[in-house]
Amino acid sequence: MVNEPPLILYVEDNPHNMLLVQRLLRAEGFRVDGASSAEEAETYLKSHKPNLILMDINLPRIDGYTLTAKFKKLRGLESVPIIALTANALKGDEGKSFAAGCNGYIQKPIDVDTLPELIRGFLENAEA
Ligand code: MN
Repeated sequence: MVNEPPLILYVEDNPHNMLLVQRLLRAEGFRVDGASSAEEAETYLKSHKPNLILMDINLPRIDGYTLTAKFKKLRGLESVPIIALTANALKGDEGKSFAAGCNGYIQKPIDVDTLPELIRGFLENAEA
């Protein structure tokens, strides 16, 4: 039996980061879909169930904390790990991420050498 590679939804409004992370994670064998806003992510989730969501916090209109809290209340999504990506390390974003329901926290700028391993770790935790 062939297992499908994990599907990741990346919510990110910065096209440079979107391209970088998609390339990186696809090269590591993941499937990656992108959403550039909260609204786009909500539409996507009506027809897809990713194994993990990577959530940029600084998004236009609806931020990543608000969106995470909303997703965590949706049926079928409670068990999907949501990992916050934020640059504001000094503003207490780690605490805010967990308060919003995020399962993990990754600091920007994105470190291409460690991101794939971090993602694998979060996926393994989610399965356990
Ligand atoms: Mn952003």
